[in-house]
Amino acid sequence: MRFYQLQRPAPSTPRHWNGSLSAEHAWSLPGVECPTCHETWSGQFALPSVDLSSLSERDLLVEPRVETHAEYARLASHVQPFLPAGLSPEPGMQFGPLRGTARGAFGPLSTRYGWEVLVTQEALRHLQTVGIRGLVPVRAELQGLDAGVVLYELEPPLRGLLHRDDVLTGPRCPTCGWYEVRIAPEPSLDGDALPHDVDIFRPENGTTFTFANERFVEAIEALGPSDVMFREAGVVPESRTGSIH
Ligand SMILES: [Zn+2]
Repeated sequence: MRFYQLQRPAPSTPRHWNGSLSAEHAWSLPGVECPTCHETWSGQFALPSVDLSSLSERDLLVEPRVETHAEYARLASHVQPFLPAGLSPEPGMQFGPLRGTARGAFGPLSTRYGWEVLVTQEALRHLQTVGIRGLVPVRAELQGLDAGVVLYELEPPLRGLLHRDDVLTGPRCPTCGWYEVRIAPEPSLDGDALPHDVDIFRPENGTTFTFANERFVEAIEALGPSDVMFREAGVVPESRTGSIH
């Protein structure tokens, strides 16, 4: 099985589609100004399927901003019960559907960032029909689309790992969780942790990357061109380092 990283095409690459979005997720935790490590930061991790509309503090999660760590921690404690088991909130974490405006025409698959995956309704139906696994679609709430056009954001599950040789991390701040991370520009996947139950995923140690296997890529390419590049990723056994056979 081959695996591919989803990437935006280079700016100089001619596009098949002219669609553009001005949209953000419905809610987000503020960024944090940390009294311990003195970093001011917010991450990019989005969980569009998490619905915070019943949270009494939801109005405080609309305007992106930076807060003190105390206020951030207070809001994060309210959000925690809504998260999937095993996931902790982090500064800047985004929730709910994309809301905003769209213009132009969209291909079967599109992305503004490496961590965002959008499909048309027709593409979603096709992926579901051919049995693509790991699809968590959330309908984007967009004004300005042509009549009858609907876009869904996919929430790729957290599975698998980037190969550890491609990820350098520093110590984690005990207060806010910040840590320095450097990821190789074209990371490989850890061959001993490949996901076999899903066809699209985000690695647990590289959540701003989206990977798909050849089943997903073949299914989406059958629908015609999209403005998304698929870079084939190396698959390297975790035990490569120092092992002799
Ligand atoms: Zn910190």
